[in-house]
Amino acid sequence: MADTILKVEDLTLQITTPNGPAPAVRGLSFSIGKGECFCLVGESGCGKTITALSILGLLQHPPFLPPMGSILFHGEDLLGLREEELRRIRGRRISMVFQEPMTALNPVMTIRAQIDELLEEHTELDREQREKRVLQALTEAGIPDPAQRAAAYPHQLSGGLRQRAMIAMAIACEPELIIADEPTTALDVTIQAKILKLLKRLQQEKGLSLLLITHNLGIVANMGDRVAVMYAGKMVEQATVNEIFENPRHPYTKGLLKAMPYRLPKGQRRLHSIKGRVPALHELGKGCPFFKRCPSKMDLCSREDPPLERIGEALCACHLFRV
Ligand code: SF4
Repeated sequence: MADTILKVEDLTLQITTPNGPAPAVRGLSFSIGKGECFCLVGESGCGKTITALSILGLLQHPPFLPPMGSILFHGEDLLGLREEELRRIRGRRISMVFQEPMTALNPVMTIRAQIDELLEEHTELDREQREKRVLQALTEAGIPDPAQRAAAYPHQLSGGLRQRAMIAMAIACEPELIIADEPTTALDVTIQAKILKLLKRLQQEKGLSLLLITHNLGIVANMGDRVAVMYAGKMVEQATVNEIFENPRHPYTKGLLKAMPYRLPKGQRRLHSIKGRVPALHELGKGCPFFKRCPSKMDLCSREDPPLERIGEALCACHLFRV
């Protein structure tokens, strides 16, 4: 892997509940190289988004307890930084594209003012240079007629343009890492494809690293270099994207792949679903968290939660693959 820029080690995120602290993310470790697209995949409630928020120091305390483990950005532990030190990094060196731009953009500020504010906080550019950079970022994000769009308020733009405006904000300060949390879920299919193509192009042209959070394996296939599959707050498999598609190991990964009907030959396509649901935090027992839904479960699985173990270049947490 190219130079590592982000290394998450043994990250545990606990939330307070009426019955005491419960782990929403448990012992998560992964790293992202320069220019790499690393994907976090799993159903809603698996811990993907709170992992992203913890990287940026945006988890609310309470209800969350202070994170445990480490999040090293170029070797510096973000979890040990004070808020003002984190602000130097957030938006400047690491930025985020959220799922729903209407909730992330400020509705009472024009797009120009929002990008300008970011540039003013994080760069030494003067007013004229900032104006140039605003228009350049909007152009790079594929927004037609950027001068006119810059003067618009978020509600005056279509969903696709709003998402592009958010991408323009994310790239304005030329960050090294962009965290994109379900960046296309709220968009229709043709706009989704354009936004993903844009992110891929920016990643390649600018040598950006991308942490892409999605529940859609089709997006992973098109965008990712490596992928981690999360289930109930735990990583259950990690591999290159090719390996995951050609040789999935964990029964949950296999279930997710089967839920992509277009991977089957025509005539055999029917929607597969993984029966049951992700367990709530208070339902996690001592066994494998996927036990109740797993088609391959054994007695042992109800008693012991399998650790994540290396299999060749991949990682997998399942008793079926323990040696
Ligand atoms: Fe299924 Fe057992 Fe593997 Fe869990 S450990 S995924 S229950 S086979």
